[in-house]
Amino acid sequence: MNYEVVIGLETHVELDTKSKIFCSCGGHSAANEPNDCVCPACSGMPGMLPVMNKKVVELAVTAGLMLNCEISRYTTFDKKNYFYPDLPCAYQITQLNHPICTNGCVTVKTTQGSRDIRIKQIHMEEDAGKLVHSGKVSYVDFNRTSVPLIEIVTQPDFRSAEEVITYLTKLKSMFRSGGISECEEGAMRCDVNISVRPEGSEEFGVRTEIKNMSSFESIAKAIKYESQRHIDAIEFETEELVQETRRYDDLTGKTSAMRNKETEADYRYFPDANLMPIIIDDEWLEEIKANKPAEVDEKAEDYRLAGISEEEIEMLISNNKIAKLLDDIVAKGCNAKEGAAWILTDCAGILRKMGKTLNDLTITADDLFAITNMVEKGDVNRSAGRKILIAVIEDGADPIAFCKENGLDKKFDESAIAAVIDQAIASNPQAVEDFKSGKTKALQALFGFCMKQLKGAGDPAVIKTMLEEKLK
Ligand code: ADP
Ligand code: MG
Ligand code: ZN
Repeated sequence: MNYEVVIGLETHVELDTKSKIFCSCGGHSAANEPNDCVCPACSGMPGMLPVMNKKVVELAVTAGLMLNCEISRYTTFDKKNYFYPDLPCAYQITQLNHPICTNGCVTVKTTQGSRDIRIKQIHMEEDAGKLVHSGKVSYVDFNRTSVPLIEIVTQPDFRSAEEVITYLTKLKSMFRSGGISECEEGAMRCDVNISVRPEGSEEFGVRTEIKNMSSFESIAKAIKYESQRHIDAIEFETEELVQETRRYDDLTGKTSAMRNKETEADYRYFPDANLMPIIIDDEWLEEIKANKPAEVDEKAEDYRLAGISEEEIEMLISNNKIAKLLDDIVAKGCNAKEGAAWILTDCAGILRKMGKTLNDLTITADDLFAITNMVEKGDVNRSAGRKILIAVIEDGADPIAFCKENGLDKKFDESAIAAVIDQAIASNPQAVEDFKSGKTKALQALFGFCMKQLKGAGDPAVIKTMLEEKLK
């Protein structure tokens, strides 16, 4: 029987604010040493009171607008109670009853087509601290406690790992350009809910939740492993599927049970009486809308105008580093469409052979432009340009030096030019005589002969000088 994989995501994103969500401590990125970004409030001292950071609300609303959500005009906070050493208050301030955004939608385009993913809600909450384990002891670092997060919860609308990764890539790109989050390593974490069902069935299967995943590569692998485990359990009755929370181990490539799934009641949620409800009126909402950047779309439009394909545009806007590399070489004078092909086809292909991805690309804009420029000017042909690119990516070679050393550039190969000049002189005695008797025009005939022999690859100025010198 064929099975369909059903996936729902809960994605936590750290917001790029100057201060934490309920106190004035610097955000997570301000921390240098463990516990150097803490105060009585975020370390849970008795009697502390939270004060709402306005910027958090604005960024959460901006994210909601980007994901086509309804924005709640009345939003409140709740306490989620549980004990863990990295949670000094023994409760997390989050939103249960009146989340800030609801009912959104985002379209993901994959090789299998396009699918609308419904966003159930976005809520604001504080992050917990971190435990650092060392031998028999564990240390607590509270720098991350009360760092603002938004959690984006989707409906179970994904049907493949590819859709999940495309969605996450899209979120990342939107949030970066929207100033919501740089989504650096660990700043975007997902809980992946998975179930399977026979193709055509309407009913959902038993779901498991894989907690706290941040690498896209691992997420894709975990989905493949976990969905196959579900299918095997159903098909071959290898085990009984239960709703539970699991963890994914990168080393083994397997998931294992962590705990039975908690229910809402386990957390004894109740409204946080220390925080007033937040009212978002028309004026404030309009202000946030006006400040929402339209950068992602504009950028795509620029690429479109340069003749770059939709598929390449998707890749570019979802990868800031690559987009910047392209922008940089274009600023130096490279044709945008050519540049996109060099990066997305040539560089990507070379990296793939090395078992790497475009994220591992370290070539500088200067080096890449040196190559594209040599090709564009006709100093080397495209396949020679590719050879140079391989040397730069694989061995960190200098493009110009590598080109000269390997005779890829006819312009620099003076002995080749000299040989052609000798040939020109030998086979055009009349032109040589004319030149000697003062008819400078005759030089043109000899020069033309050389250019023809070199198939236009040599630098005209160099050839001319060498020719004149030889004749003299
Ligand atoms: P809970 O409150 O138990 O966490 P939610 O309804 O909030 O449950 O769902 C949590 C996540 O699990 C959501 O992203 C949702 O889309 C996803 N989900 C729910 N049911 C399934 C299922 N059968 N298969 C896959 N994902 C599911
Ligand atoms: Mg949930
Ligand atoms: Zn603090």
